[in-house]
Amino acid sequence: MSYKNYPMVSRVVFGRGSFNQLGDIIAPKRLNTKAPFIFLVDDVFKGNSEITSRIPLAYDDQLLYISAENEPKTSQVDELVEQIILNHKDRPSGIIGIGGGTILDLAKAVAIMLTNEGEAKNYQGWDLVKTPAIYHVGVPTISGTGSEVSRTTVLTGPEKKLGINSDYTPFDQVILDPELTNGVPKDQWFYTGMDCFIHCIESLNGTYLNAFSQSYGEKAYELCKEIFMDASLTQAEAQDKLMMASWHGGMSIAYSQVGVAHAMSYGLSYLLGTKHGIGNCIVFDHLEEFYPEGVSMFKAMKKKHNIQLPQGLCAGLHDDEFDIMINVALSLEPLWENAIGKTWKQVITRSKLKSLYQKM
Ligand code: NAD
Ligand code: ZN
Repeated sequence: MSYKNYPMVSRVVFGRGSFNQLGDIIAPKRLNTKAPFIFLVDDVFKGNSEITSRIPLAYDDQLLYISAENEPKTSQVDELVEQIILNHKDRPSGIIGIGGGTILDLAKAVAIMLTNEGEAKNYQGWDLVKTPAIYHVGVPTISGTGSEVSRTTVLTGPEKKLGINSDYTPFDQVILDPELTNGVPKDQWFYTGMDCFIHCIESLNGTYLNAFSQSYGEKAYELCKEIFMDASLTQAEAQDKLMMASWHGGMSIAYSQVGVAHAMSYGLSYLLGTKHGIGNCIVFDHLEEFYPEGVSMFKAMKKKHNIQLPQGLCAGLHDDEFDIMINVALSLEPLWENAIGKTWKQVITRSKLKSLYQKM
């Protein structure tokens, strides 16, 4: 048995207002005294001077506003890389992603593709990246995905939705400033927060579980319970705790895997473009048979926060569309093996998945 030797985020700052330190933190990383930093910023912050006035632009640094309306695509990564190469004669000093999972994943992928030849789609998979990425920094503005700590960047390509999983993917620096999550709309707070909760449930109930994953998973689970079920927390406390829950949830799946909800939600996302957080919620709501306690807790949280999930998403779909979703879901073998065990193929048949999708 050979154990994986994982890289981690090498530096992290935590604290309300710590975003103010971004300029000081990146300054020593500037190459050739003036090679630019490229800031990829969620366009929800356009015109929000509270955030934008604190982005430390100097020399030829460039700020690109990016919509998080759609999840990152391999073609979008390729376009950004081309644009950056065409616009700057120096290779950038670094990429700084400021936003949710969508923007963080884009920042990681762009940092990798600036030093690796060809197209992003060629690197979807495990350990296909050959050359270290350029310096990259993640600044989450919504909590739950764990993208800020993870070793993957999830991209939708022409053939599949699959991450670039590599030792070069994790951020070199993360800035955890819970104040940045101030403007997150309530429904989105719930969906992305539930991504973290579902990471915990899938990790803690998986066959890949080990003490490493369990220790992180249990902590994140406990924090989620407090945040989503305990009304006595102040908003600032809840923000701080959710940011740390996201971190721990991400660490928990590093050494294990996610499970049924993620496999099926990838199918929804690939066919219908359903976003990760809400897609996981839509699927998880129907997974009592796999995760009885997790789903009942989820339903209680949903009720407490008065969240109405979309219904009938798959109502009008044709058989060939169900097939597309089922193919995507079934292709994620490690997720099923974690969720069900080595004999998962006996339980998870195409008709089983179809009947589950039909409920959604
Ligand atoms: P997101 O980045 O898609 O953002 C969701 C919405 O919240 C967007 O409309 C965005 O503009 C808005 N938003 C973000 N911060 C805000 C703020 N402070 N104020 C107001 N609005 C704000 O959401 P997400 O759930 O964080 O990320 C989902 C993505 O993360 C998916 O693409 C998914 O594949 C990816 N993901 C990656 C990993 C990983 O390990 N790499 C893990 C899980 C999910
Ligand atoms: Zn997730």
